[in-house]
Amino acid sequence: MSVVQPLLDLQEIDDRIRKLQQEIHDIPQRKAQEQERLTSVQEVLTRAQAELKAAQVRVSEAELEVKARQDKIQSIKQNQVLLKTNKEFQLYNLEIAKLEGEIEAYEARQLAAMDDVIPVRHRVAEAEAKLKEDQAAVDADLTELDARLAAVRETLAAEEGARVEAAKRVTPQFLLYYERLRTKRWPVVVALDEGGVCKGCNLVQPPSVGQMVRRNQGIVPCQMCGRVLYQD
Ligand SMILES: [Zn+2]
Repeated sequence: MSVVQPLLDLQEIDDRIRKLQQEIHDIPQRKAQEQERLTSVQEVLTRAQAELKAAQVRVSEAELEVKARQDKIQSIKQNQVLLKTNKEFQLYNLEIAKLEGEIEAYEARQLAAMDDVIPVRHRVAEAEAKLKEDQAAVDADLTELDARLAAVRETLAAEEGARVEAAKRVTPQFLLYYERLRTKRWPVVVALDEGGVCKGCNLVQPPSVGQMVRRNQGIVPCQMCGRVLYQD
């Protein structure tokens, strides 16, 4: 067995810890991506709502125009009672006829605007339903991610506990060397293959390095990357 076997055991735990930490790091981004899924659906709804509002405004504008002319006709009729000449009376009738013509036109416009409202209202309802459905799916995914995060944190805590124990089994100088290197190179402990190649950086080692590794008495670093070499 290699003299660096306790380091290899530690490295195995550290490898799992790194993966767990990476996952914890990635989860908020995955949650943000989930939220983004809703953006385009929300945009469709907002556009449909704006169109609905515009169509409703056209309806009420036409309605106001009709109302204004009806009021005017009303007041003309009240004034007509006070008129003295037939000619004036006729003029007022002409005015009324003109206003009634306008009312007809605005009523037609109002009906057309009301026809526009129906399909837009339908699109708003569809977009609302789609948003609701997608929101539920996203919420479910977010819940799952939160559960995953809690589970990963728990596993990480256990691995960190195991790491403390595994580190105690490593020769202190070996541990020091490993700790210094592990933030720069990963993995730290790599095999020296039969051809004398470091499996970390692929540099062919001089024969003396292979001999030292086989002697199995201490840490033998790669000449290029400094990783700890071992052979089974
Ligand atoms: Zn190397």
